[in-house]
Amino acid sequence: SEERSLNFIEEIVEEDIRTGKHGGRVLTRFPPEPNGYLHIGHAKSICLNFGLAKKYNGTTNLRFDDTNPVTEDTEYVESIKEDVNWLGFEWAEELYTSDYFDQLYQFAITLINKGLAYVDDSSSEEIAKGKGTPTQPGTPNIFRSRSIEENLTLFEEMKSGKYADGEKVLRAKIDLASPNMHMRDPIIYRIKHAHHHRTGNKWCIYPMYDFAHGQSDAIEKITHSVCTLEFIPHRELYNWLIDMLEIFPSKQYEFARLNMSYTVMSKRKLMQLVNNAFVAGWDDPRMPTISGLRRRGFTPASIRNFCDRIGIAKRENVIDFSLLEFFIREDLNKTSWRRMAVLDPIKMVITNFLENEIEWLEGENNPEAEGGEGSRKVPFTKELWIEREDFMEEPPKKFFRLGPGLMCRLKFAYIVRCDDFVKDEHGNVTEIHCTYFPDSKSGSDTSGLKAKGTMHWVSVPHAKTAEVRLYDRLFKAEAPDAEEGDFKDYINPESLVVVENAYIEPDLSHAAQQLADFPDRRYQFIRKGYFCLDKDSTAEKLVFNRTVTLKDGWSK
Ligand code: ATP
Ligand code: MG
Ligand code: MG
Repeated sequence: SEERSLNFIEEIVEEDIRTGKHGGRVLTRFPPEPNGYLHIGHAKSICLNFGLAKKYNGTTNLRFDDTNPVTEDTEYVESIKEDVNWLGFEWAEELYTSDYFDQLYQFAITLINKGLAYVDDSSSEEIAKGKGTPTQPGTPNIFRSRSIEENLTLFEEMKSGKYADGEKVLRAKIDLASPNMHMRDPIIYRIKHAHHHRTGNKWCIYPMYDFAHGQSDAIEKITHSVCTLEFIPHRELYNWLIDMLEIFPSKQYEFARLNMSYTVMSKRKLMQLVNNAFVAGWDDPRMPTISGLRRRGFTPASIRNFCDRIGIAKRENVIDFSLLEFFIREDLNKTSWRRMAVLDPIKMVITNFLENEIEWLEGENNPEAEGGEGSRKVPFTKELWIEREDFMEEPPKKFFRLGPGLMCRLKFAYIVRCDDFVKDEHGNVTEIHCTYFPDSKSGSDTSGLKAKGTMHWVSVPHAKTAEVRLYDRLFKAEAPDAEEGDFKDYINPESLVVVENAYIEPDLSHAAQQLADFPDRRYQFIRKGYFCLDKDSTAEKLVFNRTVTLKDGWSK
């Protein structure tokens, strides 16, 4: 929004525009590795990168950082594109680091020719040992003094497949005594005989992250390369490589990643949840993935507003999951259509209402919207389903729903008074008998009666059944990552509660068509929360997901 003050990256961009750096041009990039589905943390990075470009008349590249052939897949590429689009952003170019493999190989040769890279035959243990410790400088090995000629030959042989995985690496020749461990001759190329999802078997050497990322930024002439704080120690190497290769001077800036309570965010951990069937897939509505949040019923606007609110800082913090829920409630309260569904039914009989009579009442779709967004007809009959918890045999004071002698309003309809109830042989209440007051109709009430509560209900002969899935936090621990043992031990066993046969008002049987007409169609099941139609729905059985309850039940 316009009111908030500039974040530190916007300040940098504005300063760069003021001083005419890069001719005032702004080009950012979002660089996911296609090794999993995007999560809410990525949304923060997406909103930042695309948001910066949008604000300063720039553009953003979507770059797939696909330098690791083993873990990457086109399924992930497709899902990432869908998610970025769904969040409401458009990239200028769709690019792949793997498209730069030839160029990156040439950059490596440039470094060798400048005496700034060498082929090392040591094992990874030997290399680690040779780097020393933060308090002890490293020691050069015999390979470090190889001639340029020899390095060129060996690197060419590495490329042509002469050596096995791990037999040799290419290292930058920088400073084995640098206080920054990343500068102690980092590995820039490794051998990996593996099939790549785009380049196939063309390559058996692959650039390391540090030798691909900054160079890709420079190739694309990215002006502001924004990444998370853990890359601060990589910045010196980022700049060194750009300087030595004399390529476009992209600049790296770091911000604090998003951490959230009651969930995990690394793709590696989310993958474990999927592979071990703790969840139904990457888009399980309990997952913190964009696809999971989408299926849960979150809107793009709610996620963008959330990202805008949490802002961009230079210090790590943990955001409470409730904040995300606050933004979806705020959005859905304004946009959702009000409907009635009874999740735990008990029958109400209106003794003074005619058998077989149907009164069609008018129910406004959305009281928060101008004009109410139209209305639908709601049938009122002698027998209604109501929520079991709305009746108490011995209600306490201030119970504003039904009990013997108590009155309550039925939403869109009349005030009723409970006169009697029926129990089965186990003592369970099976039916509630009420009188309705014909002159108390909503909108034209002349009865003079007072009812403090309002209840939802569904006409018995018109009720359709649906499956309703009630979701809660995926983990019962605030920081499952930080707990003892495996994070999966802290999964909330009540994170999914399925109501097999809920009763829904007849208009909800058109939910599939309503969603097809308007992809952001969401419902407030009155008093029960916000719901959306799930993709598991069939013509025979509709399935609704609860996105969020009406009120926050977690913060005390
Ligand atoms: P993960 O550990 O979840 O796999 P990653 O950083 O390896 O995350 P990438 O695909 O490399 O995943 O991320 C693409 C971009 O998204 C990077 O620029 C990264 O900094 C950013 N990003 C990833 N996680 C977060 C987060 N939690 N908060 C903010 N930005 C993030
Ligand atoms: Mg990464
Ligand atoms: Mg990762």
